[in-house]
Amino acid sequence: MYAFTYERPTSLAEATKLVHAGGQALAGGQTMLASMKQRLMQPDTLVDLGRVSELSGVRKDGEQLVIGAMTKHCDVEQNALVKQYLPALAALAGGIGDRQVRAMGTLGGSVANNDPAACYPSAALALGATIHTTTRKIAADDFFFAMYATALQAGELITAVSFPIPKRAAYAKFKQGASRFAMVGVFVADTVQGPRVAVTGAANGVFRHAGLEAALAKKFAPEVVAQVSIDASELNSDIHASAEYRAQLIKVQTRRAVQEALA
Ligand SMILES: Cc1cc2nc3c(=O)[nH]c(=O)nc-3n(C[C@H](O)[C@H](O)[C@H](O)COP(=O)(O)OP(=O)(O)OC[C@H]3O[C@@H](n4cnc5c(N)ncnc54)[C@H](O)[C@@H]3O)c2cc1C
Repeated sequence: MYAFTYERPTSLAEATKLVHAGGQALAGGQTMLASMKQRLMQPDTLVDLGRVSELSGVRKDGEQLVIGAMTKHCDVEQNALVKQYLPALAALAGGIGDRQVRAMGTLGGSVANNDPAACYPSAALALGATIHTTTRKIAADDFFFAMYATALQAGELITAVSFPIPKRAAYAKFKQGASRFAMVGVFVADTVQGPRVAVTGAANGVFRHAGLEAALAKKFAPEVVAQVSIDASELNSDIHASAEYRAQLIKVQTRRAVQEALA
């Protein structure tokens, strides 16, 4: 590791100032510290958000659950409001990585990082979530760009994510055995605007699938998935799976998610 300045603000105002001055936000360090060790990131100043209490917690605001950016995966998994109103999100959080990752990793860090195989971006996209930052509110549809790229600008911090409560939803992940990231994960949400399907792990970034959404809008049932064709040409092929295999997994995981949502 190399020398850097470590800041530990206790308020959002102080954290915002430090990040505006060029500091890099540090959440649970689950991605940041490994990236720094590998010299993929070399920030001069780390701004640890761990003591900014305004950034943690879950509350219900009308028909939405608002979850603070620094809320850890294990806390989302165990939170009573999440379990009651959005059990699919509690289950998703409980299936992330291992116990240590869930004890340290955060919602905001996951969404800001936008790993192409991460779980939370698919939930945000399928549920039509809104990303709240220190300067604005961004619809999930406009937030996630390609691999590791988002609409976040320099000096902007995620403060919370609000998730509309769906009629029903489920997440089905086919895990990559070693990391437990998604080889393919599909989040299906039956929302007031109709079904939304977001796929992670299969391509260079999370994406919605229009064909699956149209089929499920006609009938929200697992058997309709068989009629949808999945184009493998833009999916990833790597040592874990071919693009064709991932295309097939999208169908299998969608069917499982719909089954689970209806259970
Ligand atoms: C072994 C392992 C297995 C994993 N398995 C899974 C999995 O199965 N599914 C899954 O979804 N994820 C998985 N992850 C990712 C993990 O869940 C974390 O969410 C992710 O690594 C981000 O970590 P973090 O929250 O500690 O953020 P950090 O590593 O601290 O930060 C990550 C990035 O986000 C930025 N950032 C953090 N907070 C904010 C904020 N509030 N505003 C703006 N920018 C911010 C940081 O500056 C940095 O660029 C795994 C990670 C590991 C190490």
